Amino acid sequence: MLKKRFVAYQENKIPSSSLSREYWAYAAEKIGMINTDYGITITEESLAAANAMNTFGTTPEHIGAMQAEGRESIMLVRSSDQRTLSPYLYLLMNQVEECYLLEPERVGKRKEAPVGLTGFGCKYCIKAGRLGFCRVFPLNKRSMPMKVNDIYQHFQRCPLTPADMRNTLRELKRAATKPPLNDRDREFVDQLWMKLGRTGSQITPTG
Ligand SMILES: [Zn+2]
Repeated sequence: MLKKRFVAYQENKIPSSSLSREYWAYAAEKIGMINTDYGITITEESLAAANAMNTFGTTPEHIGAMQAEGRESIMLVRSSDQRTLSPYLYLLMNQVEECYLLEPERVGKRKEAPVGLTGFGCKYCIKAGRLGFCRVFPLNKRSMPMKVNDIYQHFQRCPLTPADMRNTLRELKRAATKPPLNDRDREFVDQLWMKLGRTGSQITPTG
């Protein structure tokens, strides 16, 4: 299983984000796989080195790199989307940025998800280095609209979101159609799944 993924990683098939690629490379090394001129192999030395490695996402270096000040934030909406999206979804998506699942966040349903998995989170919380439910990590495509609503709910209780923003989001949602996402919004949310680097329709457990 992991070997197949490692080969896919080598061929750059998965995943799309550099951190996820870094994660798979790390995961392969962690079980002792090394890439040689003769292909992927496991040696006594690589096994010994693997035993000494920490789980990805648990070392201060990994966490630091993922939360570094000045780290480039990746927005998931473009200004051109304003023409097609509802004012509600457009403003909401402007308050989130792409993020990566870290080891301390792997609780509940997220336990099955690999460290480094892409998601989206509250930009105010991410800037402050907060982890947890201010960030969402969709595990299947069908749950995307629900995840968008989860992040909306976060903004309603987030202490770091400006009160004006919270109120405007609430008003726009109230003024929106029922359900709050129109057809074009739904299409956008569907494409977001792919934008996060997902192939297939769900994330399979780490194995
Ligand atoms: Zn927040």
